Amino acid sequence: MTQSKSVVVLSGGMDSCVCAALAVRDCGAGNVAALHVSYGQRTEAREQQAFGEICDRLAIRQRLMVRNQALNQIGGSALTDSNVAVPTAGAQIGQQIPITYVPFRNAHFLSVAVSWAEVIGAETIYIGAVEQDSSGYPDCRPAYYEAFNRVIRAGTKEGRIQIVTPLIAMHKAEIVALGLRLGAPFELTWSCYSGQSEACGVCESCVLRLRAFAAAGIPDPIPYQASSEAGWR
Ligand SMILES: [Zn+2]
Repeated sequence: MTQSKSVVVLSGGMDSCVCAALAVRDCGAGNVAALHVSYGQRTEAREQQAFGEICDRLAIRQRLMVRNQALNQIGGSALTDSNVAVPTAGAQIGQQIPITYVPFRNAHFLSVAVSWAEVIGAETIYIGAVEQDSSGYPDCRPAYYEAFNRVIRAGTKEGRIQIVTPLIAMHKAEIVALGLRLGAPFELTWSCYSGQSEACGVCESCVLRLRAFAAAGIPDPIPYQASSEAGWR
C-alpha cells in the first residue's frame, strides 16, 4: 500500500465504484478523496445518493460534489436534453457513438479532478473508464488519457499528477468479478440513464450492466422495472 494521496472520480455507477474500491485498497481510505460532478443529467439526484452511500461504505471521508452548468446548457445529449429521449439499447452497442454521449464530458470531470488534486496534494487520479464492452465513447479510449496526462504535465505547478485507468482494458464481467473480490458495494451503485427509483433495464447502460452480471454469473442486486431485459439477469 502506498501512502500517496489520490482522487477518484466517482459517478456512482458500477465501474466507478469498483475503481474507488481499488483506490482504497491501494492508498487506504484516509488517502482517497472522492469527486462527483453533476451536469444536469436526468439521474443526477440518484447518482448523488449513490456517491454518498458508496463513500460512506468505503469510509472515504474527503469528498467534493460540484455542478457543471456548461454541459447542461450546451446540451446535445440525451442525458442532458429533456427533448431527446434516452434510446433503448440496440444490437449494435459500441459500433457508433450514441446520442447518450455527452460532448467532451470526461475532460470537464478530469479538469476538476486535476485542480482539486493540486490543491489537496494528490498525485494520482483514478477514473473507471472502460473501453471494452462499452458504448464507444471517444473519451474512454486509452489514447485520450495518455494525451490528458501530457496536458497535466505541461499545465500544473509540479507536473506530477497522473491519471490512471485501471479498468480500461477489462471486460465488464471481469469488472464485476474484481468488484466482488474487493467488496465493492454494487447494491449501492446506480448506472441507469433514465430511471431513479428502479433502473429501466433497457437503456444501453442498463443492458451493458445486466450482461456483465449475467456473464459473471451473479445477480445484479439493484431493482429493475419488469421488462424483457429480465432475461439478462
Ligand atoms: Zn436504464
